Amino acid sequence: MDHQHFEKKLLNDEQLTAEENRALRSHLPDCPTCSALVETNLALKHVRMTAPAPGFANRFTARLAARRKAQKRRHFFGGIILLISGTGVLLWLASPLLTAAFSSPADILTTWVSFIVASLSFLQTFGEAGRVVLRVATGFIPAEVWAFSLTFLSILGMFILSFSQKLLVQKQPV
Ligand SMILES: [Zn+2]
Repeated sequence: MDHQHFEKKLLNDEQLTAEENRALRSHLPDCPTCSALVETNLALKHVRMTAPAPGFANRFTARLAARRKAQKRRHFFGGIILLISGTGVLLWLASPLLTAAFSSPADILTTWVSFIVASLSFLQTFGEAGRVVLRVATGFIPAEVWAFSLTFLSILGMFILSFSQKLLVQKQPV
């Protein structure tokens, strides 16, 4: 039995016969490579056999549950912030429409219907965008990213509303 034989067996972590074991023991003092391989195999076996600390599964489950709870809370507050900022932007953008409605009472009904339609489509789009963001934004997203996406959604909402306002203005009778 030569070095090649031991090296191959040790690299594959193969079971050695009693005779092979004896031969390896006499080979090891002369061969640093095989000694290193034996040490590595022993270390790997030791790592593999290490059992987790008692109660590890319970602690892990508890930590996971706590993290899920925190994630849910974050999503909840994120949704509220989205809703509030969305409503704020909507009201701010709708104020010209509201003023127009009160200054010309004859068009009040048409304007109101248009306003409601525009609001609904805006809210729908905003809600869909928010849902997508919430779905993508799993708990590990930092606050800066939340703020950024909020700003982005607000700008998106402004575009949508100003666009629908233009459409409404065009549709309204002169
Ligand atoms: Zn060797």
